[in-house]
Amino acid sequence: MGEAMERKALVLFSGGQDSATCLAWALDRYAYVETIGFHSGQRHAVDLECRQVVLDRLKVQFPAWASRLGSDHMLDLALLGQISDTALTQDQEIAFKASDLPPTFVPGRNLLFFTFASAIAYRRGLTVLVGGMCETDYSGYPDCRDNTLKAMQLAMSLGLDAPMLVETPLMWLDKAQTWELAERLGGAALVEMIRTETHTCYLGDHTHLHRWGYGCGHCPACELRRNGYEAYAQPEAA
Ligand code: ZN
Repeated sequence: MGEAMERKALVLFSGGQDSATCLAWALDRYAYVETIGFHSGQRHAVDLECRQVVLDRLKVQFPAWASRLGSDHMLDLALLGQISDTALTQDQEIAFKASDLPPTFVPGRNLLFFTFASAIAYRRGLTVLVGGMCETDYSGYPDCRDNTLKAMQLAMSLGLDAPMLVETPLMWLDKAQTWELAERLGGAALVEMIRTETHTCYLGDHTHLHRWGYGCGHCPACELRRNGYEAYAQPEAA
């Protein structure tokens, strides 16, 4: 049992594939793990339902992890709606269009999420923050970048005067490798649980079950998830 196991972690858990894989990664690695989710009023209620189902299923199906999984925290960040409702200036409208960002984009949202998470972590005696951010299938969000999060780690550790380690186990993985990581951590049972119980679709479609999970099948999140799963499930013939 290494030094990592003695630390206690807080996982930013949205109910999606990436954060569910991160949660399993943290449960495999740390002695104690809590979860935090953010209700921003922008996402669909299905995300929140998936969170609870995944937490329940992890406890039932993975007894070794159940004893390490502690409280779940939900923060209401409805005020993010006030930011996305703020009209863009004309110049910014042009910049958003050029960068493919949706007009509802909240700049630096992950910085806010980590700041709130660090405040909860401090109060709960947790010293590691785990997030599913990834540079490989780059989302275009600069607050998901490795250097951004390293800077956040330093700012939070200084500002709280307490060690606050930021871990992003998916940072350099592609979506197929994220499935492989899930398989390594929890075998076929975890892959199946993530496939059928996590939610990624931007449109909140949780009625159509595909080989790669639920979703509309057309939005960018569904496309990314489908391509990743196909690459994972059908490796090139040897
Ligand atoms: Zn979709």
